[in-house]
Amino acid sequence: MLHESLKQKLIRYAHTSRGYGHPPRVRLESPKTVLGQKIYPRKTMSPSIEWLRKIKGKVLYNELLSKHTSICIGGPADIFIFPRDVEDLNTIYGHKGGMPLFVLGEGTNLLVGDGGIRGIVVCLKEGFKSIQGPEFFRSADGGESAVLKVGSGVKMSYLAKYAARFSLAGIEGLAGVPGSLGGALVMNAGAEGFEIGDVTRNVVRITDAGKMQTLQKGDIEFRYRKTVFPPGDGIIVEAELELRKGDARTIYENIDRYLSRRTVNQPLTLPNSGSVFKNPPGDKAGRLIEAAGLKGFGVGGAAVSVKHANFIVNKGNAKSGDVVRLIEHIRDVVKEKTGTELETEIIVIDG
Ligand SMILES: Cc1cc2nc3c(=O)[nH]c(=O)nc-3n(C[C@H](O)[C@H](O)[C@H](O)COP(=O)(O)OP(=O)(O)OC[C@H]3O[C@@H](n4cnc5c(N)ncnc54)[C@H](O)[C@@H]3O)c2cc1C
Repeated sequence: MLHESLKQKLIRYAHTSRGYGHPPRVRLESPKTVLGQKIYPRKTMSPSIEWLRKIKGKVLYNELLSKHTSICIGGPADIFIFPRDVEDLNTIYGHKGGMPLFVLGEGTNLLVGDGGIRGIVVCLKEGFKSIQGPEFFRSADGGESAVLKVGSGVKMSYLAKYAARFSLAGIEGLAGVPGSLGGALVMNAGAEGFEIGDVTRNVVRITDAGKMQTLQKGDIEFRYRKTVFPPGDGIIVEAELELRKGDARTIYENIDRYLSRRTVNQPLTLPNSGSVFKNPPGDKAGRLIEAAGLKGFGVGGAAVSVKHANFIVNKGNAKSGDVVRLIEHIRDVVKEKTGTELETEIIVIDG
């Protein structure tokens, strides 16, 4: 039995032909199978990746996404960049040409295919971590409020506790959401009756065209676990949140209560991607899956959690395909037994 880290090293070595940290000048001519994982031949990357030397942040090649997703699944990204600042993002947009680009937060709402992601993955979790404020002001109703200017790489759990330190209420329900602010804004993350969209004042992004843009709340549509931004996509770099002054003790007590509830109800000791399906109107996806008799049902290394039926857990060696097949099975059985069509909340990225 090979140790997991050695196994990952061998797979990485096979992907790069050279090992860790070298540009992807892949020399594989035909598919190989290394420790059960297929390594597909890839064309040699363009020599124009010289521009990557201008990046101040960390640049990795053939980095396995399984190391950056909470469900611990996902093949290699050709180029994986932790930009340090907006200048790095400008360099990327200025030089990437037609190369596809994917933005990764904390990877807690994703299922990435075993083939990985072609092109560039930009991950903001090492830079973009500043919090400015709070700046207090008197709101229209006479109450006291404050604005926090927050980098998109800041973790929601840290942010909720930071706000609590200043007796600021409005995001305490999100203390147990394990993603970054950037991911929370894209998903309109919510829990315990709180949603990030409710407290968002504006969002700053760098668009596909490489332009900085400030979007006001009115420009953005926050829906249930989905945010609709004006066209332009791009990378969210920061946002301003408007929170109201509350009672610090109550806020801390609520955070404790919300976190304890998660420990009891969610399979936090096994890799997972949170709720797999959105709750259908007036019902709970977990209740429907449990009622369909699927708690504990597994495909390969993936299984429906016995603790919470809307979670799929990686029992140790799950492939992306196992999770995809399990999702399809759950959807079919729930549809057949209850007539309800479940919609996925997690984002599946394959290729
Ligand atoms: C145990 C567990 C519990 C969870 N509980 C909840 C819950 O209670 N409520 C809830 O809503 N969710 C929950 N989730 C899901 C997940 O944590 C949230 O959706 C979270 O907001 C995702 O943030 P992330 O940084 O991990 O984003 P990622 O998963 O990395 O990405 C999600 C999407 O956001 C995009 N993205 C990320 N950062 C940026 C950026 N800076 N700019 C542009 N696009 C970006 C990505 O491209 C992707 O499309 C849970 C997950 C787990 C594992």
